[in-house]
Amino acid sequence: MQESLPPRASFVEVNAAALAHNFSVIRKVCQMPLMAVVKANAYGAGVLGASRVFVKQGAIYLGVATLDEALELRTEFKDIPILILGYTPDHMAKTLVEQKITQTIFSLKQAEHFSQVALSLKQKLKVHVKVDTGMSRLGFLPTKENAYEVVKIAKLKGLEVEGIFTHHSNADAMFKNYALEQAIRFLDFLAKLKNLGLEFKYRHMANSAAALSMDNYGLDLARAGLALYGLHPSIYTQDALNKKGFELQHAITLKAQIVSLKTIEAGQLVGYGEGYYCLEPTRVGVLPLGYGDGISKVLGNKAWGLLHGQKVPIIGGVCMDQCFIDVGKIEAQEGDEVILLGDPQSGAMGAGDVSKILGIINYEAITMLTRRLPRIYTHTS
Ligand SMILES: *Cc1c(COP(=O)(O)O)cnc(C)c1O
Repeated sequence: MQESLPPRASFVEVNAAALAHNFSVIRKVCQMPLMAVVKANAYGAGVLGASRVFVKQGAIYLGVATLDEALELRTEFKDIPILILGYTPDHMAKTLVEQKITQTIFSLKQAEHFSQVALSLKQKLKVHVKVDTGMSRLGFLPTKENAYEVVKIAKLKGLEVEGIFTHHSNADAMFKNYALEQAIRFLDFLAKLKNLGLEFKYRHMANSAAALSMDNYGLDLARAGLALYGLHPSIYTQDALNKKGFELQHAITLKAQIVSLKTIEAGQLVGYGEGYYCLEPTRVGVLPLGYGDGISKVLGNKAWGLLHGQKVPIIGGVCMDQCFIDVGKIEAQEGDEVILLGDPQSGAMGAGDVSKILGIINYEAITMLTRRLPRIYTHTS
């Protein structure tokens, strides 16, 4: 038996060498150590597999959105620092402390609670303070009053305030004026805190877009997500990177085997309802994946796969576990592989193409691939 054979005839193939390449390109371009953001199952790449690559490449931190995600990482990565970028309920404080997970903090009240819990366990909880410089999401507004709040947090005996960060809302834009304003607000706030005697080991701001297309402002860390997986936040970040002489490599490919291939007579319907009607005898291939795997129903009759290098339309509605392609005149057999999401340069449907059809963004096009699909890592060396 070949060990590399996936357990299922549909799977996400992840090129580990491409992830490693993207990691090193981002680090080189932004000149900062990286936190690899691996939330939402590493944007669909598979959290443990992707994290293995990034840790090996020298990621100094892993970033996730939720405690559950942090705990999954802790099962394998015992020592690497993990930051939860989002909110964790107060009653989970003990788990944070015990599992040595770093928590984002944006309220004095929660900081006090976490400190107490940590003290009761005779430990310290590492935290990073979040500053809201213009995203209007989580974080202290960078006011003078809030600077004093942060000072109070820093005095709590059960906490180690290891970092401080803010998040860009528009760093992928062509014009960086808003992103620059956010940067200035953050740097001003850091200066205020410094005047009050507070300094931090990790001051961070850049996401992928900022890391690829903006200055690093002398900060200590970049939080890279999307670009690690070979995709650009926008064409402007792509332009910026290419001008610097670098390119991201395609990393995530969705593949499925044709598990059934039949000629369906003219006049027959394909799939549920009246999703597709055969006007002539049609070679219909069945692929064993559907919206339960993240292939939206809306892609039916709109998207395509790549079979032997040629485009084949997805026909009918996508079912929960299966979908259909019209193989046309291509000489195909059961067992042949179809690429449903791949490198657009090969003719495959890219995350950008999927986004256009569905009215979403490329982030979502890969993140929507569900856990049911096995992740197969290649080029692991
Ligand atoms: C998701 C996220 C990132 C990574 O953003 P990308 O655009 O994918 O690089 C960084 N920081 C925070 C706070 C995030 O939520």
